[in-house]
Amino acid sequence: MSQKRLSPRTVAVHAGSRLEGSTSQPLVPAIHMSTVGWFDSSEELDGALDGKDYVYSRISAQNTTLLEESVAALEGAEACVSYASGMAALRAVLEAQNLKPGDSIVMPADGYGVSRLLFKTLCARTGVELHPVVLSEPTAPERILELRPKFVLAESITNPLLSVPDLRALAKACRQVGAALAVDATFPSPYGQRALSLGADYAVQSATKWINGHSDALAGTVSGSHERLAPLRSMRLMAGDVLGPFEAWLTQRGLRTLHVRMKAHFENAAQVARRLAESPLLERVLYPGLPSHPQHAIAREVLEGGFGPMVAFEIKGAGRPEGYRFLEALKVARPGPSLGDVCTLVMHAASASARRMTPEERAAAGIRESLIRVSVGLEDPDDIVEDLLSAVAQGVKR
Ligand SMILES: *Cc1c(COP(=O)(O)O)cnc(C)c1O
Repeated sequence: MSQKRLSPRTVAVHAGSRLEGSTSQPLVPAIHMSTVGWFDSSEELDGALDGKDYVYSRISAQNTTLLEESVAALEGAEACVSYASGMAALRAVLEAQNLKPGDSIVMPADGYGVSRLLFKTLCARTGVELHPVVLSEPTAPERILELRPKFVLAESITNPLLSVPDLRALAKACRQVGAALAVDATFPSPYGQRALSLGADYAVQSATKWINGHSDALAGTVSGSHERLAPLRSMRLMAGDVLGPFEAWLTQRGLRTLHVRMKAHFENAAQVARRLAESPLLERVLYPGLPSHPQHAIAREVLEGGFGPMVAFEIKGAGRPEGYRFLEALKVARPGPSLGDVCTLVMHAASASARRMTPEERAAAGIRESLIRVSVGLEDPDDIVEDLLSAVAQGVKR
């Protein structure tokens, strides 16, 4: 730019916005904060507006494209659409079904409380019938055949009871009645399950959790075929629930190490579960890798690389006060209502992830006041076990 005749205030607006002459490629992707792209010729702009290049970041953006390519590769999908959060991703999938009054949908009765509340709210508004079903029950595929829903949401490993549905059987039932099947595969992450390969139409991730792995950005993804995702992509352009560039960049940085982290999280979870199962202070330990787990045999077939990074347990005789005392007594693990961090995160299920469920819904799902959920971190598993057990002992002490 010739800056000679321009006033300093004009130069301040325009100077330093292009790197001239450099052909160097950054090893780490640049963070493209620009919401708008400009072109040297109108012809280029015109072509770019057909979605071929980056013009306006609500339409498409460099960092979200890069993240979507990575997640699609991990899920074994043709394509991926990213969102500002996991909940935005779930909402987008439901809305893409174009459900009409009188249509019905099925979702887990024992799943994530906010998903339940979202679907309940959206269905009530549109006159769609919502059927909560425990999808890990052997009778679940039959229920789908009876109910003939248009859409089914499953969770790979349910939150917080860690039950494992047989996705292949659910997918078969869905195909028979023409229902679309979406799987929230946040708990195992694409490392532990590729839901599309088991017959799901959409694989949904709260990438906030394991894909990011470091608790520093909210993000959600939906992966599937180009055909399934085209309506989501065009609705995202209108609804504007896009992922920001910095969040996309952070999420992709976390994803680079997903496989090494998850291998270690899975191994630690297995050790923690095995040791907890020996404690006389616990009523029961829930972990799909324990032979005592009701879906242990199914988990062997639908999960990869082990049995997931999550463990849950019930403290013998505990109500909410004992649960809270237990959380306060932790010294290594953190009491935090999330999962997917390098650090062990522990949660009292009834007051956190299942908080938005009514007491009746919690009872029906089998979520008791004594239930604790653990997202097993990368600390030494012996330290994690000792911390959990000594906090349990302090929690129940009067
Ligand atoms: C956290 C979570 C969500 C919601 O994701 P956000 O990124 O917090 O919006 C959905 N499903 C499951 C299983 C989750 O753990």
